[in-house]
Amino acid sequence: MARIAVIGAGMGALAAAARLAVAGHRVAVYERTETYGGAVRRFERDGFAFDTGPGLLPLPAVYRDLFVKTGKEPLEECVGLVQVDPSARHLFADGSGAALPNASRAGVVSALDEALGAGAGRRWGDFLVRARETWDRTRRPLLEEPLWPNWQVLAEREPYPSVPHKRLLRTRRAGTLAEVGAWELRDPRLTALLESHALVYGLDPREAPANAAVLPYMEHAFGTWYVRGGMRELARAVYERCLARRVAFHFGAEVAAVLEEDGRTSGLELADGTAVEADFVVCGVAPGVLDRLVRGTAVRGGEGEVPPRRRAPSRLTVLLALRGGRPEGTAHRTVVHAEDRDAELDALFGPTAGMAASPTVTVLRPDDPSLVPDAGHEAVTLVATVPAGGASAEETARRADDLVTAAERAVPDLRERLLWREVLTPADVAEATGAEGGAVPAPALAAADGRMLHAANSTGLEGLFTVGGWSHPGGGLPHAGMSGALVAGLIVEGPGFQGSR
Ligand SMILES: Cc1cc2nc3c(=O)[nH]c(=O)nc-3n(C[C@H](O)[C@H](O)[C@H](O)COP(=O)(O)OP(=O)(O)OC[C@H]3O[C@@H](n4cnc5c(N)ncnc54)[C@H](O)[C@@H]3O)c2cc1C
Repeated sequence: MARIAVIGAGMGALAAAARLAVAGHRVAVYERTETYGGAVRRFERDGFAFDTGPGLLPLPAVYRDLFVKTGKEPLEECVGLVQVDPSARHLFADGSGAALPNASRAGVVSALDEALGAGAGRRWGDFLVRARETWDRTRRPLLEEPLWPNWQVLAEREPYPSVPHKRLLRTRRAGTLAEVGAWELRDPRLTALLESHALVYGLDPREAPANAAVLPYMEHAFGTWYVRGGMRELARAVYERCLARRVAFHFGAEVAAVLEEDGRTSGLELADGTAVEADFVVCGVAPGVLDRLVRGTAVRGGEGEVPPRRRAPSRLTVLLALRGGRPEGTAHRTVVHAEDRDAELDALFGPTAGMAASPTVTVLRPDDPSLVPDAGHEAVTLVATVPAGGASAEETARRADDLVTAAERAVPDLRERLLWREVLTPADVAEATGAEGGAVPAPALAAADGRMLHAANSTGLEGLFTVGGWSHPGGGLPHAGMSGALVAGLIVEGPGFQGSR
């Protein structure tokens, strides 16, 4: 039985902790805040409750597997998992809109044909076939297996089977997601639909490689899921599974250093000076935090290795308490697309890093009585991708107003119904996760010279492993959950571990 110290109680770290405990190890988690879940938090006021991190769960199979492998009760017995149907309603800049059925190719094709004109559905459907091929090619190396030692293969090859595109006597193939949209979908609304899947993860579709096609594919193929009571319930269930497996938790326990002895980790030092001995350390924090913990020693990104990704946009979240009940037939999620796509991308990813006046906004309206004081009220959450880092109070208020204005396209009587609103900024994300500027990491992608890969879970310091959204296979609930499975595999089976099946 090894002693394993886990830094942080984010979802990736919790997933690793539960699996390691089941394998017979003595696991203790040290979390700097007073609660578990990292980004997966909840805000409550006046009988209203809101998720302040992710509002939906893609690819629930990752958490189903965690529950199967760590106990008798399956995930479905621990949380109320429901499919969201339609998976999303999209409101485009030209005033058209489409509600896309959950996990139904035929349904999506006919919804798009009806909403955007004959042929649109077929083009999207054909794209999904190519996206599926991409998923089949990348699922194992970019989700289920530790980062390949010869990761350069992933960095060089674009796995998306793009359609040859003739331009000025030259035949070209889409290398970015934006080119997939422009050359293969050929409709600004389909392009907006495609690109919104990158934007929601903080990726610039003009930079994201074509294989970012797996992001809409994952949602399409495996459905969009909601956890009754809010996503915080998933964090609660995983935390309780850890407790049931005798994982020890220390809250309010900030880790100040990873200790090293004879070239391998020997434990931790807490901010209050307490030393904790451990045979292995599993670290689920952002790269800037890890740098401080290892006191500047380069434990990741050595020669021939993928360096940690350090930068990513954040999120602005506006929580709205509304009077009046949620109307029958309301979509759980509506994506209100930006009025000017180029202006939005230039503002967000350009040198001045700001937010366009009309951003893409995700409007979440869960059909969940536990989130409201009574049936005469509604809890609505607005989320947009914004640059990481601080903004002035005036700028934050302007951005929040812009989100509300955009959301009025989805909820026309929003302002008349508004009781109060709460604005959560990148600083709030930073407070929950410890990541500088409130940056939120994206899932790993192939190609792009490896710029979209995350650093391996093993590090240059023997016995120290990294878990969660800032290491392979990257950010997002399923990916972070998988990082937990990979780290557990690497510790239990050793460096020869080939991946989770
Ligand atoms: C607003 C928002 C919206 C999001 N939306 C989505 C979405 O729609 N879909 C999706 O899949 N994902 C989404 N995500 C991302 C997703 O929540 C994360 O990728 C996922 O929860 C994985 O988190 P993690 O394991 O990296 O840990 P994190 O959530 O980053 O938590 C890290 C933990 O480590 C702790 N910690 C940091 N430093 C120390 C230290 N020195 N000592 C001890 N503890 C420390 C922190 O307090 C924190 O608890 C969103 C995130 C945010 C913030």
